[in-house]
Amino acid sequence: MVQRQLRERDITDERVLAAMERVPRELFVPADLREHAYKDAALPIGGGQTISQPYMVARICEALALTGRERVLDVGSGSGYQAAVIAELAAEVDTIERIPELAEVARANLTAAGYDRVRVHIGDGTRGLPERAPFDAIAVAAAAPELPQALYDQLEPRGRLVVPVGRRRVQRLEVVVRSPEGPAIVRSVPCRFVPLVGEQGFNGG
Ligand code: SAH
Repeated sequence: MVQRQLRERDITDERVLAAMERVPRELFVPADLREHAYKDAALPIGGGQTISQPYMVARICEALALTGRERVLDVGSGSGYQAAVIAELAAEVDTIERIPELAEVARANLTAAGYDRVRVHIGDGTRGLPERAPFDAIAVAAAAPELPQALYDQLEPRGRLVVPVGRRRVQRLEVVVRSPEGPAIVRSVPCRFVPLVGEQGFNGG
């Protein structure tokens, strides 16, 4: 997976590549899909949601430019996989999921894989996590119609927010840096994520 899907494409951050070598992805997919865990694809995890494609996880993590000292918020816990990869790259990780059953799945998967220091919260992640803010970096694993302002507001100065922004079926990954002049936005790869549902996301499922 790391060689063919990440390195031979355009992932170059050695810390990200090493983190993705270490996290056992098979522990984050439903038991009946284990044999497909390392495929170049998103996979269903229940509740109409998916564990993201490995490449998109790597892309998001690379865009966060983590050094190991950061406090990070992961929005859209799903299986917990992306939170585990971030835990390999940063000091502290909080992750928030709107579907309580999936938050439970994420918590169980993270514990089974040895990442019980990741804090799993239930709630609308489009509002961020005010009680733990500010964050050095925020990763969003679901598509937003526009830049979620509450998340930007919870960044440290020079903090980074990585979020797919666009329409329901197609988006671009945006890398946003908080600066005194306002958000500095770099549009990255086209992508397709499940919708971010909430106050500053899409309405309904
Ligand atoms: N990072 C996950 C990807 C899960 S897919 C993984 O590695 O498996 C995106 C997740 O975002 C879904 O579980 C969905 O329920 C969740 N989600 C959607 N809108 C949300 C919101 N407003 N707040 C928190 N989670 C949300």
